[in-house]
Amino acid sequence: MSYDDNNIFAKILRGEIPCDKLYEDEYALAFNDLYPKAPVHILVIPRGKYTDIADFSARASAEEIAGFWRMVAKVAEDKELPGEGFRTIANTGVNGGQEVPHFHVHLLGGQALGPMLAQAA
Ligand code: AMP
Repeated sequence: MSYDDNNIFAKILRGEIPCDKLYEDEYALAFNDLYPKAPVHILVIPRGKYTDIADFSARASAEEIAGFWRMVAKVAEDKELPGEGFRTIANTGVNGGQEVPHFHVHLLGGQALGPMLAQAA
């Protein structure tokens, strides 16, 4: 899949639409999800143009990969998530239910989140 420059996270990165920003550095940006599914629901996105986790893992530099995951860890620490536990999700493609085609990780916490998935039929 080629990268779509008009996806909503690309627009956020370019400052064309606002976000509820929490942290940013040269590698990544973290902001609150607009439609939170848990008391804490944060999205972390790399600055680079990567469609999903596979694209990011294949093409990003070691510095970008380290910078991105360190931001995920920093957000979790700053929100005091590790003590009680939390969940990270990277939805990918159609079966993964990915809506926005710019790689992102969801950080969810603040309550017991229950089973990872509904039971398969
Ligand atoms: P995914 O289904 O993994 O692609 O998740 C996309 C996420 O982006 C959803 O949880 C949406 O609620 C969230 N989202 C969509 N638009 C915005 C926005 N403008 N600001 C913050 N979060 C957004």
